[in-house]
Amino acid sequence: MVKFSVALLGAALSIYAQSKNSPIDKFRQLEEILPTPNEYRTASGAPGHKYWQQRADYKIKVEIDDVNQKLTGAETITYHNNSPDTLMYLWMQLDQNIWEPGSDAMTTRTAPDFKQVPFRMAAGLLRDPFPGGYKITSVTDAAGGKMPHTVVKTMMRIDLKDPLLPGAKFVFNIAWNYNITNSKWLPGRTGYERFDKDGNYLYCLAQWFPRLAAYYDVYGWQHKQFLGQGEFTLEFGDYHVEITVPEDHVVASTGVLQNPAQVLKPVWRERLKQAEKSTKPVMIVTEADAIENEKHKPTGTKTWVFDAQNVRDFAFATSRKFIWDAQLHTAGGHNTWAMSYYPKEGNPLWERYSTQAVVHTLNTYSKYSFLYPYATAISVNGVVNGGMEYPMLCFNGPRPLEDKTYSSRTKYGLISVVIHEVGHNYFPMVVNSDERQWTWMDEGINSFLQYLSEQEWEPDYPSRRGEPRTITEYMTSDIQDPIMTNSETILNLGSNAYHKAEVGLNILRETILGRELFDFAFHEYARRWKFKRPTPSDFFRTMEDASGVDLDWFWRGWFYTTDHTDISLENVRLYTLDTKNPDLEKPAAKQRKAEEPESVAEQRNKNLHRRIEDYPELADFYNKFDEYAVTEKDRAEYKKFVDGLESDEKSALTPGFNFYVMDFKNIGGLVMPLILKIEYTDGSSDLLRIPAEIWRKNNVQISKLHVTRKEIKQITVDPFLETADTNLTNNFFPRKPVKSPFQLFKEQREKNPMQKDKEPAAPKPATEPTSGQQ
Ligand SMILES: [Zn+2]
Repeated sequence: MVKFSVALLGAALSIYAQSKNSPIDKFRQLEEILPTPNEYRTASGAPGHKYWQQRADYKIKVEIDDVNQKLTGAETITYHNNSPDTLMYLWMQLDQNIWEPGSDAMTTRTAPDFKQVPFRMAAGLLRDPFPGGYKITSVTDAAGGKMPHTVVKTMMRIDLKDPLLPGAKFVFNIAWNYNITNSKWLPGRTGYERFDKDGNYLYCLAQWFPRLAAYYDVYGWQHKQFLGQGEFTLEFGDYHVEITVPEDHVVASTGVLQNPAQVLKPVWRERLKQAEKSTKPVMIVTEADAIENEKHKPTGTKTWVFDAQNVRDFAFATSRKFIWDAQLHTAGGHNTWAMSYYPKEGNPLWERYSTQAVVHTLNTYSKYSFLYPYATAISVNGVVNGGMEYPMLCFNGPRPLEDKTYSSRTKYGLISVVIHEVGHNYFPMVVNSDERQWTWMDEGINSFLQYLSEQEWEPDYPSRRGEPRTITEYMTSDIQDPIMTNSETILNLGSNAYHKAEVGLNILRETILGRELFDFAFHEYARRWKFKRPTPSDFFRTMEDASGVDLDWFWRGWFYTTDHTDISLENVRLYTLDTKNPDLEKPAAKQRKAEEPESVAEQRNKNLHRRIEDYPELADFYNKFDEYAVTEKDRAEYKKFVDGLESDEKSALTPGFNFYVMDFKNIGGLVMPLILKIEYTDGSSDLLRIPAEIWRKNNVQISKLHVTRKEIKQITVDPFLETADTNLTNNFFPRKPVKSPFQLFKEQREKNPMQKDKEPAAPKPATEPTSGQQ
């Protein structure tokens, strides 16, 4: 007797879709999880007829102290309350406060793994705390009256004397200063780099002014504290910014330069004119100019003035080391200056690739979303380890080695990071998602478009991500989170919000929707939410609304769970038709009988002496009867049977068909389309693409019938590796070994100190900077 435990029976029952005993239905609609549609956000995923968003316009004066690496600023903000709500206070973001010694970002850091501590980290642990963070020197209203304000870690509440009514605006002023972080010790998205050889500084300045927190219909004030990982949620506005720097600095900035005659040398302005007509980048400040510049120390300052319209943030970079190249890019009747700024340490890589990659990005991203809306698109080499994005301008890290050589990884790392960071102009700088809440909405979507752009750069471009097969290891790892995890909480941001989300979109485009439907729906999402703030549900709903395909099962599985794809072809059964025709069926039955294996006893009994040999009279009718012999009676009976059939029923008796039943098991949990390559013994093959809905009534095991006159030799599940199937060993019938090389190592003993002592001293090889993207 076989006993099943109750628990096992429960598990066995839960495999079915949704039944009395089982709540698991992977195709259940998402309405129970998504927010209820309303007049601000519709059920179709479009902005509703009462959609609103706040607006903040800034006028800022800022000065960089190049001796003390300090920033001092004053701003006048006009805040437009476009919401239907009356506001009693405003919230500002004070991102610099994560560098305060007692900040949550500092105190909630957990201990490093002391088995492997990099030297710089160890040295950092011993340093005195950096006196970082904003010093807010005044908060006043338009009339100059002091305003009560309360700093809450990385946020500041400003209390209003009079309630701010719907449709009203409010003007106020803030003055501040802070010590700029040294990116060597406090790496992040902003800071300065000191070049020891010439004593000069390069500044990349971002999150450098108190910015309005976003207030919107889904979260109210988005003032979730900044812990360093979740990026920024911001309002659009117009900026007028006056940047005062040492007089020999070159400034790269969000916005359009308003006073070129005051800050640019005549020869630079002349070269800019030439660049207007050029089809490739033109040097504005040459390497020779920059090297000359490095040698001088300034005596005074200059103020660069930039204006930017309808941007959600403002960043700039400044240094006397900058080389500057530019090319005017025209698309759809709109001009954009594609430009790069870099120190000589960036060459020869930067002069060859940076601006080219900027122009390439404007072309490819516009194809999949909308025309680039701004007047400049800038790539700056400085301070960040990987790259970091702001409106119209981004910072990118990769550089060649000191001897001007570079690895392939650095070369493609630079091209890829420029594409990625310039690409962020579209997501989230224009499609303004809430980064503090959802990293995937900008990083996943942007990484996806980055991959498409890389593939348009050159054949066999070495994209690090993109193909579904690149995510399989992460999908089965125990640090995998659902994509729908808050930005500050995600365990591995790169694998999750970038990579997993990106691969999901690729699977959607190539396998589930197809390129035509996907691209149409994605265009619609970009069009609907350009200069607005979408949430995940707006994306999910728009992609379904515009494609006409129910994708709730895919959002549920890929975005809300940690399930992975592992579909196993467990078994294949072959059925052939019983035609009832005795002339066909009886010989076939005889053949089957003959093919049955001889049992061990039968083999051994062959020479056994039998009783019937001694008494032949024991044999009667049945000893001669051949059950497989066809008789005339059989034939007459068959004829009568066939004559009694309707003509359409008769066609079912056509001989020669094979009925293959393939049994599949879903081991990983994710439901996915079944892609089957069926190869026949005659050398031909079929490709079957079966939608994921085949799993809708049983998402653990299903069987699929394939009818053919041919004989199957081999079946392969997911032959082109497009579903991120994590285990390929069960993808074949018959099973076959999955080839992978195993590396042979010669066991090496650590040399003993005496052996080492006899070796000549060897120079240490130079190391490459690592690359990462933000
Ligand atoms: Zn990014």
